[in-house]
Amino acid sequence: MSPQSKKVTEKFFQDADITINTPAFQKKKGYTSYEELMEYLNSQISKHPNLMSMSFIGTSQRGKEIPMVHLNRENENTEKVKVWIQGGLHGNEMGSPESVLYLIDQLLNNAEYAYLLDKIELKMIPMANIDGYEKENRYAANGLDLNRDQIKLNIKESVFLKQAFSDFGAEVALDLHEYKPYRKDYTALSTYGIASIYDAMFLYTGNLNVPDNLRNYTKDRFVIPAKKVLDEHQLLHHDYISTVKHLGDIHFNQGSESSRSSATSYALTGCVSTLLEIRGVGIGRTSFKRRIQTTFLISMSYLKTAYNNSEELKAEIAKAKKTQVNAALETKRNVYKDTIITIDLDKNEAIDFEVTIRDALQLQLLKERTRPFAYFILPEEKAITERLKILGLELSLLDEEKEFEVESYTVTEYEREAKKYEGVNRQTISTEVKTIKKSFPKGTVVVKMDQSKANMAMEVLEPEVKNSFITFEVIETAKGAVLPIYRLIKTDTSLR
Ligand SMILES: [Zn+2]
Repeated sequence: MSPQSKKVTEKFFQDADITINTPAFQKKKGYTSYEELMEYLNSQISKHPNLMSMSFIGTSQRGKEIPMVHLNRENENTEKVKVWIQGGLHGNEMGSPESVLYLIDQLLNNAEYAYLLDKIELKMIPMANIDGYEKENRYAANGLDLNRDQIKLNIKESVFLKQAFSDFGAEVALDLHEYKPYRKDYTALSTYGIASIYDAMFLYTGNLNVPDNLRNYTKDRFVIPAKKVLDEHQLLHHDYISTVKHLGDIHFNQGSESSRSSATSYALTGCVSTLLEIRGVGIGRTSFKRRIQTTFLISMSYLKTAYNNSEELKAEIAKAKKTQVNAALETKRNVYKDTIITIDLDKNEAIDFEVTIRDALQLQLLKERTRPFAYFILPEEKAITERLKILGLELSLLDEEKEFEVESYTVTEYEREAKKYEGVNRQTISTEVKTIKKSFPKGTVVVKMDQSKANMAMEVLEPEVKNSFITFEVIETAKGAVLPIYRLIKTDTSLR
């Protein structure tokens, strides 16, 4: 049962007047099954063998193969823009996989959009969390959240996804989600509660380890034009907001800096990254067509932007890669009052509503550490190096024992959460950084910081960062311990 009354749907969320040919729209009830999805993908391949192909990135925990669609028109003279689109990371966001299928349909079968593949190459994951989707459950089969696992990489499906993403080298990434318009916190607001009114919310990173030119470019070139398209279609939108309890009051977090989730994780590899939240969780098939169309309009806006500005986009990404930002260790959200639009459920009216925003899109830097020339990781720390590889970092090894002047971390304060979060007991530490001379054995792993995805290395290796490998217990430590991670500050041209 949808918690949404008919009068709310009729007044605010009329369906789009369009025909959609994807499997769910061929039936009155339910959603596209995994089998129907596979059948649909195969039928498109047989119609468009020159434009579409498919591979499998791995299998889900329950043994279902996870398909990845490749759309490309061979064109040797053009350097393509690589666009990654993923759906269904959360299994209860039923419009998301359907939106990927609709995008595939329109790119292949609508002559109006055929030109896009001249300059754009796409890799698409229509259904990332198959086991969850089959049960209409947010989580993977083991109960963990794939979009909190982008750094710790403890879930099978995340490893396959991240590896495929890293191998592709995406320049633009879209992660398609749906959000719940009726939240528990909302029942306490206004007279008899509120419901969210926004058809779409945009989540793009505020993380300061992502160079500001890339953050601004994402907003100015991609997010703002997509919002204009929604305006033209009378669809309401906002930057991503979500309620949070703060000292007993309900505040709204806006944006995110959190690399455990996709939007920031992808941005840290130097790409234009956005997570879309479409109004859809918990309301069944209500306004299903409208939801699919909203995702479609935004995705098409992103593809057109990429097509029309391909050289500028590549130049901006190259500029971001050259920008050697320091490591942001501690930040603070900007807090202010703002007005959002919301549905007052008592009056069934859209009202202006004053809220307190805690904004991650305007972060204040509280503490930073200089960017090193390279990180050294001791040879036995396989849990760290395996994850760095999956995250797309290039690693090299010392081929003989050698002494270096480096900075070491000694743990001065240590806290380990008693309660598990997503399967781990998170650690929070403070460290003292000291310059020492140390002999490193053959096989020591070197992570050079002039590589394109280096900001990701900083995010996961600096132990005080909120979503570091230390935070997620990739390695355990204790008060007084010296971490097996070292910082080489001086440039050393002998290192490969
Ligand atoms: Zn989601």
